[in-house]
Amino acid sequence: MSQIDSLPPLSQVIATHGIAAKKALGQNFLLDLNLTARIARAAGDLRGVDVLEVGPGPGGLTRGLLAEGARHVLAIEKDARCLPALDQIAAAYPGRLTVLNADALEVDPLAHLTPPIRIVANLPYNVGTELLIRWLTPPAWPPVWDSLTLMFQKEVAERIVARAGSDAYGRLALLAQWRCDARIVLTLPPEAFTPPPKVHSAVVHLKARAEPRYPADAKVLERVVAQAFNQRRKMLRSALKGLVPDLEDRLIAAGIAPTDRAETVDLERFCALARLVAG
Ligand code: SAM
Repeated sequence: MSQIDSLPPLSQVIATHGIAAKKALGQNFLLDLNLTARIARAAGDLRGVDVLEVGPGPGGLTRGLLAEGARHVLAIEKDARCLPALDQIAAAYPGRLTVLNADALEVDPLAHLTPPIRIVANLPYNVGTELLIRWLTPPAWPPVWDSLTLMFQKEVAERIVARAGSDAYGRLALLAQWRCDARIVLTLPPEAFTPPPKVHSAVVHLKARAEPRYPADAKVLERVVAQAFNQRRKMLRSALKGLVPDLEDRLIAAGIAPTDRAETVDLERFCALARLVAG
């Protein structure tokens, strides 16, 4: 375990403040400060950057973010038991950590941060995908954040970076890759966490592109993709039935055979189809 600051080791913090992990809150803590500093570094140079962290827990990643030079960290934690531990961190980094005791699904704190903004989190698994979808579908693009560096179950991380033709490919891959460059930067075994979860985990880094990779209306693309993958094994002429008149002509114009299945159609052709549907 490394000494990245003058605060006590995380195992001691957890014992002192009685933060026994609760499964219902998705609490699997990272206690190795070497590792949390590595995750913070995966978000790039944090100097001059405001960071939103969801679910700081006892604060391992929070300490990594602050030690790596984040200008300001806004941490949203639902579990009030973690607040005394987080207060201790705030005292060690005066004026640089604000803690909000709230449910991240109920608040939208991005407006309180000053760009450049990055989001970094070891997400609670039960709310991770929902938060990711919200961050990927803001009212306007580019979003207020520059990048997302997020821990997920490895299986979810693989769905985010999946390419057409793979089993993991679907709505999440298309949504993420349309307007972001997404890659897995770190994979962790269950033993990296306390208590260990049942599955492996992975950190995904998503960098917002200034422009979408291919033009399309966001709402139409979302609708087409959702309907196409609702029945992913069906041919698209059946899966998309009722979407528009002349469906087969529009599929062909988008470079898609009506007998193709959603999982074989890449992002470029889904965007072409969304434009033809909108038009
Ligand atoms: N960041 C810490 C770490 O890396 O050790 C803890 C990560 S743990 C996987 C997830 C954290 O999210 C827990 O501290 C949990 O209490 C918190 N949490 C769960 N649901 C939440 C929600 N809806 N809003 C905010 N925090 C939440």
